[in-house]
Parts: sequence; structure tokens; C-alpha cells
Amino acid sequence: MLTATGELPAKANTEPQLAIALIVAGIVFLASFFGILTRPVGFLAAVWPANAILLGMMVRNPAFATPLGWLAAFVGYIAADLSTGGNFFVTLWLTIANMTGALTGYLLFRLAPESDRWLQRPASVLHLFAICCAVALAASIAGGGAARLLFGRDFFHGLTFWFITELVNSLIILPVLLTFPGFRKLRELWPAKLSPALLQHALPMLVLAASVALAIMLGGPGALAMPIPALLWCSLTYRTFTTSVLTMLLCTWLLISIPANFIPLPELPDPLRSLDSLRLGIALMALCPLTVASINAARTELIERLSHAANHDSLTGALSRGAFIDRSETCLRINQDRGTSLLMLDIDHFKNVNDRFGHAGGDAMLKEFVVLVSHVLRPADLFGRMGGEEFAVVLPGLDMIAATSVAERIRQALEARAIKMPTGGEVWATVSIGVATRAPGGWTSFDEVMLAADRALYEAKDAGRNMVRVGAQQAYAAAPTLN
Ligand code: GH3
Ligand code: MG
Ligand code: MG
Repeated sequence: MLTATGELPAKANTEPQLAIALIVAGIVFLASFFGILTRPVGFLAAVWPANAILLGMMVRNPAFATPLGWLAAFVGYIAADLSTGGNFFVTLWLTIANMTGALTGYLLFRLAPESDRWLQRPASVLHLFAICCAVALAASIAGGGAARLLFGRDFFHGLTFWFITELVNSLIILPVLLTFPGFRKLRELWPAKLSPALLQHALPMLVLAASVALAIMLGGPGALAMPIPALLWCSLTYRTFTTSVLTMLLCTWLLISIPANFIPLPELPDPLRSLDSLRLGIALMALCPLTVASINAARTELIERLSHAANHDSLTGALSRGAFIDRSETCLRINQDRGTSLLMLDIDHFKNVNDRFGHAGGDAMLKEFVVLVSHVLRPADLFGRMGGEEFAVVLPGLDMIAATSVAERIRQALEARAIKMPTGGEVWATVSIGVATRAPGGWTSFDEVMLAADRALYEAKDAGRNMVRVGAQQAYAAAPTLN
């Protein structure tokens, strides 16, 4: 429904806002509730994921970070504490401290480069660490006094306890939220069935589980570091998200197993301070696999970009000449028992387009031509730019008749389409195409097939352009001209 001024009524905007507020309040409520359940009687919770989850949610979805979104988080904290019998004044203080941390983190993430938010650069983990320290400091300064007032602990102990808990939680939870690829992508990546290749891929994870078992068996302070080599192997093998999840699981397990005595440790001299030191050490350990994973992710992305640039024509995105020839030779080899065809395409009177509309006009036509041809081709076909306005296509499994029909479809598609020029105006273009086919079981080399297609192309040009000609090749006789 539109208002008299043609604008959408305010309700259309408030509905998603309300939904966002409900989501934020609900998630903060549940995460706080979980934290409160793990709170030892009379003191602050040692496991408090709510702040890191709130921060991660706001950084991943800036649309949530509206005044209403933050207010909803505030309500979520308060509701969780009050519903478990908290005193209102205490609840208010703790909530203000929690939100101070999350807000500090949010503002700092906004200052950091976008790629840091997804842990994509080698330095991202160090930036994340600096932000987590600032978050922990801000929250502990705002809330440290609560320990003294509420539980009779001294201010310094309250502050260090809060700082360490906040840092530990942020360092192990935030990477998972920041690198989460989304539910749809996760479903795509999820293996459909068990296979030997999958088992091989899962090997680093299995070795990680085995090293945790070894740590339990051997015990002692060194046991904490025993899973590190396997975790580093995981970070070199898996994407950053998987490494973040494995790191979170391992750290959480270590944080739980030490006080629960699952890993036998020697008698600690000052149990409270030693426990703080162990928790801090475990969280800092998490930085190693995360750094390796983010360096690896940056390296993989760089290799992908370089290999794409090396194999594709930068103007049109079609395969570069070298990559096209390499892949075509392989394609001909693996399709030895099937007929395979090659098209050579040359845009007619292309020089005229350059002369009339400048080089940019010619470039626009080349790009448009590649899009148009790509729409006709199947995913398995190869399409390369051989130079200038000359292109080639390999059609695996297609015999002469089928390949000629593909060529004819390309010819007609270009003929029927007016191509817009950047300087304004439109141009109609045509293309001449030569077809050559290597018969099933034939031994003709790629060079010979290309030569035959090239000859057919020149025949098409000589015969007046805008036509498809078929070259003689192996068992096939020259086909009649289609145009
Ligand atoms: P024909 O019908 O015989 O194929 O004539 P033509 O004009 O298409 O062919 P010709 O070989 O005479 O001209 C090709 C032109 O393509 C000449 C060259 O300047 C131009 N060209 C080559 N590469 C590019 C490019 O990347 N961008 C643009 N805009 N023009 C290019
Ligand atoms: Mg030409
Ligand atoms: Mg040419």
C-alpha cells in the first residue's frame, strides 16, 4: 500500500525492525541464560558467551546495529538475569558492563578494514586480538567494581577475572561467528555421502581427536599443548570457519576439563591465579591455528586470483589463447572415443566498429559477444579468445551436425541483437564461423582440427561472411553451406 505521497507507509519498515529486535533480544537472552546456569553460586560466570555472540551478530549484520537493536540486547540481558532471580541494581550494572564491551568492539570493528571482519588477511587475527583486548578492558573497567560490591572480592581480582573471561570468550567464539559462511553455503559444502576421499580429508580432524585422547592419557601441564600440531594441520587443510569451530571446541573442552580434572594436572600453588593463568594461556593458544588458517585463506585466494588472471582474457573473461589450447588438447585426449568439434569464430568487419565508435566501442562489442556465445554453450564446452576479434570453441561429444547447429545458433543470436555502444547508439554485427570435427576414435591432433576449422572460416569469409562453413575432417565430408 502506498501513501498519498507515493511513499511506503512506516509500518513496512517497522516490521523488519521489530523482527530484528526480537531476534537480538532472544539470542542475547538465551546466551545470557546459558552463562547464568554455569555461574558458580555467589560469583561471576566463567563461561559468558552472550557478549561475544552479540558483538559477532552486530558485526556480521550491521542492519541489526540500530538503536532499537542495541535496546533489544539490553532487554535480553536484563530479562535473563531477572528471570533467574537477579537483583535489579546488580543486573543493571552487569548489563551496562556487558554492553560497554560489545559496543566498544562494534565501533573498533567499524574502524578496521572490511577484510579483517572475515579474518581474510594475515594480519586479521592480530587485529582481532587487539579488538578483543579492548573489549575485555572496557567491560572489565565498567564491571570490575561489581565484584567488590556484590561478592566482597577485591577490585583488582574482579577486574582481572572479568578481563580474562571476556578475552577468553571473545577469542574463541568471535572467529566462528565472523567466518560463518551462511547456512546455504554450509549445506552446499556438507558432503553428500561417505567416500574414501572424504575420509582422507577428515584425517587431520581424526588425528586431532586422537591427540586429545593422548593428552588425557598422559596428563601434566604439557598436555594442554599436545593437540596443537594436529590443530595446525587442520588449519592448513580446512577453511577458516572449520578451523575456528575446531579451535573453539578444543579450547572449550580444555577450559572445562581443567577445573573438572579430566586432564590430571600437578597440584597448583595458588589455585585461583593458576586457573586464571591457564584460561588465558588456552585462549592465547587459539591465536596460532587461527593465524595459520587466515594466512592460508589469503594465500589460496591469491593463487585462485592469479590462476584466473593467467588463464583468462582480462577484457572478455573468455579463456586466454594458451589456456584454451592446453585444455582443448586435454579435452580431445580424454574424449578419444567420442566425436569432438571445434568452432573458429571471427566477427565480421569488426574494424569498422572501432573506426566508428572508437576502441571502447569495439571492446564493448567483444564483451557482449562473449556473453552471447556463453549463453549458447554448455558448462563443459571450452571458449577461448584467440586474439583480436577471433574466438574458438571446443564442443566435447558433439558430431558435425550438432556442432554446426550450435554455430548456427551463435550466428543467428548475434545477427538478431543490437549491441549498445558506450558513446550512445547501437550496432548490429555478424560473425563468420568455421566448423571442424574429429570423428570418434580418430587420432587427428588438435592443431590439425584447428587448421581445418580455420580453413572453413576463411571459406565463410570468402563466400560473403555471416555464415557457417564446415571443414572436411576425417570421416566427414564437407557439409553444404547453411547460409
Ligand atoms: P573481417 O570481416 O575480414 O574479419 O574484417 P575485420 O575488420 O573484422 O578484421 P580485421 O583483421 O581487418 O580487423 C580486426 C581489428 O580488430 C583490427 C584491430 O585493431 C582490432 N582489435 C584487435 N584487438 C582488439 C581489442 O582488444 N579491442 C578492440 N576494440 N579492437 C581490437
Ligand atoms: Mg573479423
Ligand atoms: Mg580477424
